[in-house]
Amino acid sequence: MATVFVQGLVFAGDGQVFEKASVLVEGERIVKIGKENMAIPRGSKTISLEGRTLFPGFIDAHVHLCLDGSPDPVGKLASEPAPVIAVRASQLARETLMAGVTTVRDMGGKDGVDLALREAIRSGTIRGPRMLVSRSMICMTGGHGWQFGRQADGPDEVRKAAREQIKGGADLIKLMATGGVLTPGVEPGAEQLTEEELRAGIEEAHKAGRKTATHAMGTRGILNALRAGIDSIEHGVYLDEEAATLMKKRRVALVPTISALYHIEEMGTEGGIPAFAVEKTLRVKPHHLNSLRMAREAGLLVAMGTDAGTPFNRHGLNLTEMVLLARNGYSSTEALQTGTRIAAETLGLDKLLGTVKEGKLADLVMVEGNPLDNIEILLKPETLVLVMQGGNIVKGEKDKNV
Ligand SMILES: [Zn+2]
Repeated sequence: MATVFVQGLVFAGDGQVFEKASVLVEGERIVKIGKENMAIPRGSKTISLEGRTLFPGFIDAHVHLCLDGSPDPVGKLASEPAPVIAVRASQLARETLMAGVTTVRDMGGKDGVDLALREAIRSGTIRGPRMLVSRSMICMTGGHGWQFGRQADGPDEVRKAAREQIKGGADLIKLMATGGVLTPGVEPGAEQLTEEELRAGIEEAHKAGRKTATHAMGTRGILNALRAGIDSIEHGVYLDEEAATLMKKRRVALVPTISALYHIEEMGTEGGIPAFAVEKTLRVKPHHLNSLRMAREAGLLVAMGTDAGTPFNRHGLNLTEMVLLARNGYSSTEALQTGTRIAAETLGLDKLLGTVKEGKLADLVMVEGNPLDNIEILLKPETLVLVMQGGNIVKGEKDKNV
């Protein structure tokens, strides 16, 4: 049966906004975008877009479904058996989808839970976003994320670690180029995997047709990763001009994950977040916001990524990231593109997802009102009235049939 979204505002994701447009979905695809007088196939389900806006399904380029957003999720994860993590992660995946996020890139799982989740969603066993998974992130011994990463030292071992992830079904390889906030005793600005180590991992990924991403906060680590051929920079706290120039030239995306710092700062140690994490967050914040501005001025690709699962950065709050970008100098249109077209390109899925275009998969999100006028409305859960994934309405089906 066909579904038609009738006469309203359509944010195509590619910079175009259509007024009084109708969108016809047949099977799993968008088949037509038309004007007021578009013929509606007999028997179609119609959904009014009056007073609403239709978006491509949002894409979060950086989540951790194994982390639950508790005050010390990494500490908690270390002591939990895989079945416990898996059961909870399936619920968190559902909450993510219900929040309008139809695709995610999971950037570090544990015990294969991320992979099992991806398969369960693919087969229709559970509901959740389409997933790309990195499996274990690769870090140096004792480096950021070692609690649930694959520790590897020297180019040969990193190469092997990357091959292991690919063998195990990873869609991408994540490498840790610097320290970070949530691991005690490591410095966000300090280099970790070396340029040679990063290059070995990246070479293996690219040989297997996989993209690569790096957790990189400090400038030297960012530059190491860029010289080694990385495809996206996660966090990018201490971006400099050299890094921005390289990123622009090679269309390397920045996935800033401002949400992570926002929630840690908001809840602080009173919320139970470990003091070391709060201290580091407050220290990097001004630099992080500066990188954000620099990325915008340089015209870099900035993709929405939340680091969901980190303290109080709960799965289902993902759209907060675009609101935070808008509060930090991005126009609504720019912010909304980070979570649609640009995130799709960052994941290598832009041929299928990220825009409302004929032929694309029908991952669509309908919201009450117009976030282009006021993006803050995305923070209210009731704004999000309908989620469609692959042509199936997975949330909100009150509209009548004709
Ligand atoms: Zn992360």
